[in-house]
Amino acid sequence: MTLFEKIIAREIPADIVYEDDRALAFKDISPQAPTHILVIPKKPIPRVGEAAEEDEALLGHLLLTAGKVATDLGINSQDEGFRLVINNGSQGGEAVPHLHIHLLSGRQMNWPPG
Ligand code: 5GP
Repeated sequence: MTLFEKIIAREIPADIVYEDDRALAFKDISPQAPTHILVIPKKPIPRVGEAAEEDEALLGHLLLTAGKVATDLGINSQDEGFRLVINNGSQGGEAVPHLHIHLLSGRQMNWPPG
């Protein structure tokens, strides 16, 4: 069982900001911006590169959920804005093998990303 499955099962505490039947969103334990939320599917897909055709609607739902959470947090404006990040694999910076979208906001984001 991955760390994030344990959070879904409430075996590990997390500061949950949104939940529905397919997705969970909670605050990152080590925030890299004033707002740093992780949006995850309840289905244990290891990483986006291993998502299947059957996950198409779920992947769309996760993006819509990220936008909804941003709206709920008051950061879904053209001015303030936010960044979504998905790390995939070792060089991609992935540490937890359970698909997650990072929702980052509250400071100027830079490009190219580190
Ligand atoms: P990755 O590097 O895999 O893209 O992102 C994993 C994220 O999970 C990291 O930003 C890390 O801070 C976060 N994280 C790791 N362990 C925990 C935990 O126990 N609780 C929470 N809320 N976040 C965690």
